[in-house]
Amino acid sequence: MTIDTKEETRACAHCKASFIINASDFVFYERMKVPPPTRCPECRLVRRMSWRNERTLYKRKCNVPGHTEDIISIFSPEKPFTVYDQKHWWSDAWDPLAFGAEYDFSKPFFQQFRELLQRTPQIALFNSNAVRTEYANHALDSKDSFLISASYKSENVMYANRVLEVRDSSDLYLVGWLERSYEAVNCGTSYKLRWCYGCEDSQDMLFSYDCRNCSQCIGCVGLRNKQYHIFNKPHRRAEEKVSGICRDVSP
Ligand SMILES: [Zn+2]
Repeated sequence: MTIDTKEETRACAHCKASFIINASDFVFYERMKVPPPTRCPECRLVRRMSWRNERTLYKRKCNVPGHTEDIISIFSPEKPFTVYDQKHWWSDAWDPLAFGAEYDFSKPFFQQFRELLQRTPQIALFNSNAVRTEYANHALDSKDSFLISASYKSENVMYANRVLEVRDSSDLYLVGWLERSYEAVNCGTSYKLRWCYGCEDSQDMLFSYDCRNCSQCIGCVGLRNKQYHIFNKPHRRAEEKVSGICRDVSP
């Protein structure tokens, strides 16, 4: 079998932008027995991501018969899906199998799949055991939190995405085992981090990056096992002052 190993420039079937399919891609598609893509990489990414709405919430009606209240949902009001409030969806008050259908060989698969998807009730928010945490999605075993997503065991947390076992904190992304922290990204097992990135096993840190087992530091980068440092320099006489600043910005 001969395989065309030249790269090709094609126009995206969706946005019309040109994109390149390189030679090794053609070899791969041939090996997998799938046709080359008709959409550009970005349009393909958008299509894949459209299946997971993690952080955009809407107010809409619940589709449980007899329910008239507004609910919070990841499905906007104009979406064609049947959406049940969380309590009802998790209950045994409805039978999922009642929404099934025999496969019809005379109709295309994807048309039937779409009809099944629209008819079968979707849960308003993908939460489980989220207590007093109405504005959240993909929140598990969390309580008293607001606008969190993809989070597990959050308590008193707000404005956070991908956080694990965090308490009394806000404005976080990709962190775990933090307490009383604000604006922390990619940090773990720490207490009172403010405006920090990539810090672990630390406490009372301000504007710091990639520090481990440090405390009472400001503006430090890559420090290990240090205390009372400002811009990576020790400040022994300023111990009281640094603690004071950390205390002053505490919520
Ligand atoms: Zn495109």
